[in-house]
Amino acid sequence: MADDFRASRVLELTQALIARRSLTPDDAGCCALIADRLAALGFTIEWLNAEGITNLWATRGDGGPLFVLAGHTDVVPPGPRDRWASDPFQPEIRDGLLYGRGAADMKSGLAAMVCAVERLLARGGIKGTIAFLITSDEEGAAQHGTKHVVEILRQRGIKPDYAIVGEATGSEIFGDRITIGRRGSLGCNLRVFGKQGHVAYPMKADNPIHRLAPALAELVSIEWDAGNTHFPPTSFQVSNLNAGTGANNVIPGEADIVFNFRYCTESTAEGLKARVHEVLDRHGLRYEANWWHTGQPFLTRQGALIEAAKAAIGDVAGLTPILFTGGGTSDARFIAPMGAEVVEIGPVNDSIHKIDEHVRVVDLDALSAVYENILSRLLAA
Ligand SMILES: [Zn+2]
Repeated sequence: MADDFRASRVLELTQALIARRSLTPDDAGCCALIADRLAALGFTIEWLNAEGITNLWATRGDGGPLFVLAGHTDVVPPGPRDRWASDPFQPEIRDGLLYGRGAADMKSGLAAMVCAVERLLARGGIKGTIAFLITSDEEGAAQHGTKHVVEILRQRGIKPDYAIVGEATGSEIFGDRITIGRRGSLGCNLRVFGKQGHVAYPMKADNPIHRLAPALAELVSIEWDAGNTHFPPTSFQVSNLNAGTGANNVIPGEADIVFNFRYCTESTAEGLKARVHEVLDRHGLRYEANWWHTGQPFLTRQGALIEAAKAAIGDVAGLTPILFTGGGTSDARFIAPMGAEVVEIGPVNDSIHKIDEHVRVVDLDALSAVYENILSRLLAA
């Protein structure tokens, strides 16, 4: 009963990982568990830990295409225990669903990857190298996790050809959607200076709200780009706007605004910044702009990996997945710039970060079969 064996192995490992309380950025022994399994398959295990973060880099193979399986062991806090129907760190199956923090994001993805490689290697030889890049720093600052490992790989001249990130990507049923790119995120804290005074004597003051308003109207109406086949147009959104002393007869001395761009591959962070500064300068504002850039946009090459992923999902789930570029950021943003084709494929994501996070038990088996199918297509001996 090969199918039962396969299902139970992925389920077992997912459960063992959920039971390890790996609140970000704590790994809680998850990587060690995975490393033991990989070492038994002949993988070379390397710990690239940094600043208390656990980073596992494990490789097996010699030359050929380099295929990276990537993911994270850390999870977000579960929230109030009494709102969960069962303990978030004691995996429990109810009505065909496996509950626990990390069930979908993304301990099932990690378990499915490990078991896929176990089956693949048991079946026979492959051509190429398989690597696992697993970190405990994805849900938090994400500065010493995948980003750190990628810097080391760059120094060594290592260039992955393909990478799968096991983040939850499904929309409603397993296989209906995979992620092939992400928008970039650029934000700014802007302070506009004026001169405080009495509302009855505006000639002796300088109202920063009045100065900001026309510039803001222009920023809101700009079409930053038209988007492209894979991305919607870049959007500019104001999230905070504050000014005033609370008194109704005082012109304030300054106005503060926070805004964010979710931008596509038709724009660059530098280009967007320059256009904002041009508008602010043309309106004669005195201001201070503090920018933060949390992610470059990326779109993977339309190559062998997407084709293999579509074919594998067709084989296993009988679906053609939507190629998605929305959602938040993931560690694929660090791997894609190395030149690799990158896709994110995982279980349905509707419960991630929520109370009672869960995954369908039958999807664990299907996900692992998809990974195995893709690997065997691209690393056929
Ligand atoms: Zn995740």
